[in-house]
Amino acid sequence: MNNFDKTAYWQDIDQAHHIHPFTDTADLNNRGTRVITRAEGVFIEDSNGKRYLDGMAGLWCVNVGYGRKELAEVAYKQMLELPYYNNFFQCANTPAIELSKVLAEITPDGLNHVFYANSGSEANDTVVRMVRQYWKLKGQPERSYIISRKNAYHGSTVAGASLGGMSGMHAQGGPMLPDIAHIDQPYWYGEGGDHTPEEFGLIAARKLEEKIEELGADRVGAFIGEPIQGAGGVIIPPSTYWPEIQRICDKYDILLIADEVICGFGRTGAWFGSDTFGIKPDLMPMAKGMSSGYLPISAVMVGERVADVLINECGEFTHGFTYSGHPACAAVALENIRILREEKMVERVKNDIGPYFANALKALADHPLVGAVETVGLIAGMPLVDDKKTRKGFDKPGTVGTICRDACVANGVIMRACGDRMVLSPPLCITKEEIDELVKRALAAFDETAKKIGKM
Ligand code: PMP
Repeated sequence: MNNFDKTAYWQDIDQAHHIHPFTDTADLNNRGTRVITRAEGVFIEDSNGKRYLDGMAGLWCVNVGYGRKELAEVAYKQMLELPYYNNFFQCANTPAIELSKVLAEITPDGLNHVFYANSGSEANDTVVRMVRQYWKLKGQPERSYIISRKNAYHGSTVAGASLGGMSGMHAQGGPMLPDIAHIDQPYWYGEGGDHTPEEFGLIAARKLEEKIEELGADRVGAFIGEPIQGAGGVIIPPSTYWPEIQRICDKYDILLIADEVICGFGRTGAWFGSDTFGIKPDLMPMAKGMSSGYLPISAVMVGERVADVLINECGEFTHGFTYSGHPACAAVALENIRILREEKMVERVKNDIGPYFANALKALADHPLVGAVETVGLIAGMPLVDDKKTRKGFDKPGTVGTICRDACVANGVIMRACGDRMVLSPPLCITKEEIDELVKRALAAFDETAKKIGKM
């Protein structure tokens, strides 16, 4: 079979049997699945042999890049030695034990305990149960409310979708979990009006205080936020936002949860987004970059305050997964962190490749469709707009973004459209030449988009 026959073969089977995540499957079946068969560095290749520069590191996760043999080798070795054993019933495996120590070292001060799961969604489910159990043990079970933000993403299990602020998700598979409230997001470009970003950061943060006052502080257990909202379109909050959120959480004695599933493991030029924004989280769910996506593993880092109660006052915490602390996944995570450390990848994002990325993307800021280029480290968001001066978006949100995303794919670069915000989150190993290539391909795609909608 030649490549094209093989592709048709896989597409037929896929269409017959596979329901894809976050996909209009009928539409996909009309268009045909793109079958990705191999990858190396920052490039992926499909079954027709076409190569794409992966500007998204998969789904924001392949931080060390594709094709790292060390990761495959430790998985292979661990699977031969001990492919599986659980961490229940007085047992533990050595990779999970060692990983716990390393995570306590690299995460912010005060986070010294870890609970393992398999995905970001499961980590956030764990967080919900921990928060509510913590307050119950503290004799305040009525503090069951968790406050989140509109346009937040925290996963797609029932708890993840409920915590998230995506209306399209709340509309399906409900009812959502009770006692979760959503406040406005700190999205200055889209919602900041005539305020300066700094003013707007304070206004957005004070929505938390208003919500606490409305619900009653004695009913609120926690606030959850991504340091930078990823799936919401890479919404980078103004500098005033997180310090004010921290102040409010401290004032009302509310637990602060930083969802580091995207920001963690170097993405923002520090180990965690909490380091970049000066957040002191009580609970810190993380996943993705923890293993660079080579095997599924996630975790919740638990701060002293919660750990002390959960460990000393709870008795059995009736929560856990068959694969919590899976030895092969933990071994891969350990090796992944070793690579990040030894190759100083996080420092490189901060001091070298991150600034280069920000500078290179300036070429896109001049494009007639692009309202702004917003970056931190190796993550970027670019709103496509109808009017650059007034920051006015397009009438049918999402349409131009989708056209642009498809044009990017056609031009050999993977970018994602979150509504009309084009986003980037490339592997941390990307080189300067590859960033130049990414920008070149993106510019061609943006031009095609502008022509298609009559803006050029
Ligand atoms: N939290 C955040 C911030 C995320 O970006 C994601 C996934 N994109 C999740 C949680 C859920 O992770 P998973 O898809 O591994 O369940």
